[in-house]
Amino acid sequence: MIRSFHFIGSVGVSPLHKWKKPLPFLFLQSLPKSRTASSPIEFPSFFVQSQPQRCFRAFQMSASRSESNTEADAASASSSAVSPSTAAPKPKIKFCQSCGGPTKMVVPDGEEKMRAVCTLCSRICYENPKMVVGCLVEHDNKVLLCKRKIQPSYGLWTLPAGFLEIGESAAEGATRETLEEACAEVEVLSPFAQLDIPLIAQSYIIFRAKMNTPDFSPGPESLECALFPLEDIPFDSLAFSSIFVTLKMYIEDVKAGKFKFHYCTINKRPGASPSDTHAFAVDNHLQS
Ligand SMILES: [Zn+2]
Repeated sequence: MIRSFHFIGSVGVSPLHKWKKPLPFLFLQSLPKSRTASSPIEFPSFFVQSQPQRCFRAFQMSASRSESNTEADAASASSSAVSPSTAAPKPKIKFCQSCGGPTKMVVPDGEEKMRAVCTLCSRICYENPKMVVGCLVEHDNKVLLCKRKIQPSYGLWTLPAGFLEIGESAAEGATRETLEEACAEVEVLSPFAQLDIPLIAQSYIIFRAKMNTPDFSPGPESLECALFPLEDIPFDSLAFSSIFVTLKMYIEDVKAGKFKFHYCTINKRPGASPSDTHAFAVDNHLQS
């Protein structure tokens, strides 16, 4: 289960797509705010190509939803996250995982970035992004969603997903999370999307999957699980921007009659809740 979100990372640049600089954050207040569950779902609502020389397609999803729901941990983390230009020398790893000594932020010899380094044994404590894995479970032209019973995003809907554990593959982790959160035994069909969220140092891998038997029920971290026809997906009540983007991509593929593999970067406005669909842009969208 997704519990917390921490620190800042960076995204690699595809040799096929030159990353000039992040697109400006676009805010959706100017967009229609009256979408309801029965409204037609548009995807993407519009495309952002503010600089023609960019060879990647960038777009921003649109949807309206309350901003009253926040991911406490994520909001805290993202608000404390800092851009590289304003990096504060405060180690997030405060104590050495080897000897327990206190760390301090320094630039180790031969490196360029500040790292948390043990003041006793000089071990470098690297911080790296976390991998989140999950399943987009299809059944009878519907998708399986779970209403979260835990913070962050208590009461909001999500795909079953969570942090990958050491010792398991991404597909194994995704099926485990689905079993834990929806008590559903699923079979992975194909990878569907990878979504990088540099600001909170997460990378999602979402698989399409099917239930071996159409049996599911809420696990201990879910209030409710349900199959949603695509036109009834509660975009106003989704837990995370990553889930919002994934489902929009999925609907687009269903409409096109062909599933692709999608890669994109979700660039969040620093300090914004991860579930705040008014404060992120989807950039560098690549698809097979
Ligand atoms: Zn140490």
